[in-house]
Amino acid sequence: MYAARMGDLPPYLFARIDEMKARQIARGVDVIDLGVGDPDLPTPPHVVDALCRAARDPHNHHYPSYAGMKEFREAVAIWYSRRFGVSPDPDKEVLALMGSKDGIAHIAEAFVNPGDIVLAASPGYPVYRTGTLFAQGKLHGMPLFEEHGFLPVLEDIPRAVAERARLMFFNYPNNPTTAIADQKFFIEVVEFAREHDIVVVHDNPYSEVAYDGYQAPSFLSTDGAGEVGVEMHSLSKTYNMTGWRIGMACGNADIIAGLSRVKTNVDSGVFNAVQYAAISALLGPQDCVRESCAVYQARRDTLVKGLRELGYAVTSPKATFYVWMGVEDSMQFATAMLEKAGIVVTPGTGFGPEGEGYVRFALTRPIERIQEAVGRMRVLAP
Ligand SMILES: *Cc1c(COP(=O)(O)O)cnc(C)c1O
Repeated sequence: MYAARMGDLPPYLFARIDEMKARQIARGVDVIDLGVGDPDLPTPPHVVDALCRAARDPHNHHYPSYAGMKEFREAVAIWYSRRFGVSPDPDKEVLALMGSKDGIAHIAEAFVNPGDIVLAASPGYPVYRTGTLFAQGKLHGMPLFEEHGFLPVLEDIPRAVAERARLMFFNYPNNPTTAIADQKFFIEVVEFAREHDIVVVHDNPYSEVAYDGYQAPSFLSTDGAGEVGVEMHSLSKTYNMTGWRIGMACGNADIIAGLSRVKTNVDSGVFNAVQYAAISALLGPQDCVRESCAVYQARRDTLVKGLRELGYAVTSPKATFYVWMGVEDSMQFATAMLEKAGIVVTPGTGFGPEGEGYVRFALTRPIERIQEAVGRMRVLAP
């Protein structure tokens, strides 16, 4: 019944974990889910209020504009300039998205011909692969190794591959490895993209989820980035708005125009009331962002300390709400965690073959639950 490409779609592993989790719950186990990357904290009340006000106004009940309201695009430009010191042109260099996943899933349609290569990190966010698949492109995984700080080594990409590559995805602060990148790496990406004529997509949803004073950069603040690429950003992680589906693509006007043309043909934009809520998030008080980070930071410290006391070697992340830990066999570890301790973690292989040897913990549960999880892990300590 299904098209052949359906066989290549990835949800198998996650579906298997969901099944195992459901079985434990049915048995009465009090499962602690550290699998999902979805903030448990609520959206700030002033953002919810802005939505309610806008939803009551009948002017907002019609089809929204494809590109997003001008006020929304202007708010994005202001937020970018306050936060990163770059001001994309709201008319040509900013596009509203139904969450950044929307932009990531659709951009290959605009730039990739059948058989073209798309470069994306492995381990990496599964949607880079999915978007490539729908455009009939071929994904070339750039392996992320701990000894290189989980940054892809661009010189290791075979010349023949680089020549056939049309698109490259990368993501720092990184999910799932929690690695961060500096301007030096971004400069290398710009040079590589220029040399091989590649459209670059930096996926940056975790720029505001950072600790210990670390401030993550935007790819767009790198010299030349605006000529070769765009950045996908989102309100999901910054303002606890995963359910609202609002994000933005910013950067090179021609790339934005290509993505916009694809999207114009598949969706009809983001509900205006959601865009008004997003404006209040972007331009309103930012203490909510600092407060969320403080909550995640306390959870991070609890989990990292607990894991180290149990004898695991683990790096404390500077950004993202994950902890990435080396284990022997990732699926075996995740299965034992669920069956012996009632804890869901994500096996690294869910993010690509190079994720083998790691599991990801999400810090999206209250600190008491994280403490409880560490206590339960005693039964399987190394
Ligand atoms: C969460 C996430 C996204 C997408 O989030 P949206 O809710 O669609 O904005 C994109 N990339 C990575 C790496 C993520 O973790």
